[in-house]
Amino acid sequence: MTTPSPIIYSDTRENLTAVKLAIEAARHACVDPAPQTCLVAVSKGQTRERVLPALAAGHRLFGENRVQEARAKWPDLLAEYPETELHLIGPLQTNKAREAVEFFDCIQSLDRPRLAKVLKEALEKRQRSKPVSFFIQVNTGEEPQKAGVVPKDAEHFVRLCRVQMGLPVIGLMCIPPEGEDPAPHFALLRKLGRATGLSCLSMGMSADFATAIRFGATHVRVGTAIFGPRTP
Ligand SMILES: *Cc1c(COP(=O)(O)O)cnc(C)c1O
Repeated sequence: MTTPSPIIYSDTRENLTAVKLAIEAARHACVDPAPQTCLVAVSKGQTRERVLPALAAGHRLFGENRVQEARAKWPDLLAEYPETELHLIGPLQTNKAREAVEFFDCIQSLDRPRLAKVLKEALEKRQRSKPVSFFIQVNTGEEPQKAGVVPKDAEHFVRLCRVQMGLPVIGLMCIPPEGEDPAPHFALLRKLGRATGLSCLSMGMSADFATAIRFGATHVRVGTAIFGPRTP
């Protein structure tokens, strides 16, 4: 006889509590944590049914990686929980920039001059009064297939976005290469944050958010550990 395998991720609410406790524990365990660490609950690839318990539990900060998916999933949820903040954490095509600034409160994937220019134009025409902010994504592992400005160009790109274009850039974001120790990548992002005077650092996911907190993460982006495996 076979026993059914336990459904490990059945309870979003419990997982959310556990992740929040783990964040607090990681902050207490390190000498120099950021003044605060926000939890971006990554709801990409999750159904509304999986997301609802997190909203019902009072969580109000979520991340999605696709404009289309977010626009299909969130309007009803936002109507019910209007104080919710939505971050775009996936690559943004220039032809979706207008839509993205209307829909998201923060875009964490600003990574190239052309996109900066299009976002600036989109902001000038923006209808929404709620403020929007940006993170610049840094490709710390210099992976050819990955989005993000390479580290040596980061300072120049930050200056272009903030000083020349006047974009509301508040921080840096990175996704370390899979299968590598993430610590050097988090250290590099912190160093670039100090060099550019940007105080927000978005780094750390389900597997490594405690490490990211050690390196000063102000935003961790956690999906699977809260909502369970994603449906493709
Ligand atoms: C999917 C995703 C996450 C969340 O990953 P988990 O391992 O499920 O926590 C975080 N950041 C980005 C940019 C992602 O695309």
